[in-house]
Amino acid sequence: MANNLMNTYGRLPITVDFAQGAYVWDTDGKRYLDALSGIAVCSLGHAHPAVAKAVSEQAHMLVHTSNLYHIPQQEKLATDLCKLAKMDSVFFGNSGAEANEAAIKLARLYGHKKGIQNPQIIVTDGSFHGRTMATLSATGNRKIQAGFEPLVQGFLRVPYNDVETIKNVAEMNQNVVAILVEPVQGEGGINIPDADYLTQLRQICDDNGWLLMLDEIQTGMGRTGKWFAHQHAKIIPDVMTLAKALGNGLPIGACLAKGGAAKVLQPGTHGSTYGGNPLVCAAAQAVVDTMSKEKTPAAAARMGTQLVKGFSKTLAGQTGITDIRGLGMMIAIELDRPCAALVKLAADAGLLINVTAGNVVRLLPPLNLKDKEAKALISELSVVITGFLNHNNEEAS
Ligand code: PLP
Repeated sequence: MANNLMNTYGRLPITVDFAQGAYVWDTDGKRYLDALSGIAVCSLGHAHPAVAKAVSEQAHMLVHTSNLYHIPQQEKLATDLCKLAKMDSVFFGNSGAEANEAAIKLARLYGHKKGIQNPQIIVTDGSFHGRTMATLSATGNRKIQAGFEPLVQGFLRVPYNDVETIKNVAEMNQNVVAILVEPVQGEGGINIPDADYLTQLRQICDDNGWLLMLDEIQTGMGRTGKWFAHQHAKIIPDVMTLAKALGNGLPIGACLAKGGAAKVLQPGTHGSTYGGNPLVCAAAQAVVDTMSKEKTPAAAARMGTQLVKGFSKTLAGQTGITDIRGLGMMIAIELDRPCAALVKLAADAGLLINVTAGNVVRLLPPLNLKDKEAKALISELSVVITGFLNHNNEEAS
């Protein structure tokens, strides 16, 4: 269909009309099981009644006033997030990229306050931090950066899940102020690092006076089976960014900080007109309250294990599958070949999925997925993947 949108997305020929829980319906009335949740956004499912009620009530009261005035909804949300994450302060923006921009600015200011004129932030290969100039420069994927040079300076790239290289950087470079890393790489292919990776990064940051900054935009809000993925490692970062599931679809991002880092940004150093307005905070508060009440992170841990077990069983012995892994409800089925075509095949079969890093089927279902929905996802997607691989094998032979 011709339209006046900038051509930034290759879209599937699907128009979602309405949605409920784990299902969406297109304008032809076809139903899809949503195993992607709007890319890890609608973690409580679509049209969750608590979120819908909170948004509707707040919309009738007050949508926006700007950050020139006190916003009690923002203050309450900040208190609750800080309690959950054991952090001290929050800046609210409108997206993941903006949350990371706040973190990057915070780290630079932190460095300048320590007398470092050219502050550097360590970032990793395969990472994804957003599409603004600073966040795409931090991102470890040339495809995201190509054509947008000159990139923002001040990032030092190291391999993911490699502590030794960072230790070497610490010895050679006096300008490092922070490490910015995803606890599990999402866009990069659901890459789960060694269990002690974050613990070691915490130690290196402590030894060198660096900030440990975790991008939990995809991993946060219960996605990996804990409120925040770093809680698996029992460490606390200095800075953590959130977005995606925080608003269950309402655009909100957050940059949380702890200790000295919590006091770095001061009036005049950062801001956002919309950031944390009453409407989005009401949605996020409903998300926090509902997830607390329903113990959603623990449910995600249980269901994630069930899904990985289920796929491992149904796809056992299937040639072309190289790995099935997950942490909570961040699940990957890795193939030995490019498989972007699976997205359309799955959609034809009534399943919304994603393929990332070329050959990784990425599943990010709602965290409150029901048993029978999980069973349907496992059996139906396994048929699609098996069909794709067998057809592919026949063509090759
Ligand atoms: N960081 C991570 C880990 C992400 O997965 C994403 C989005 O996929 C972003 C940052 C950027 O978030 P947004 O698209 O809301 O700017």
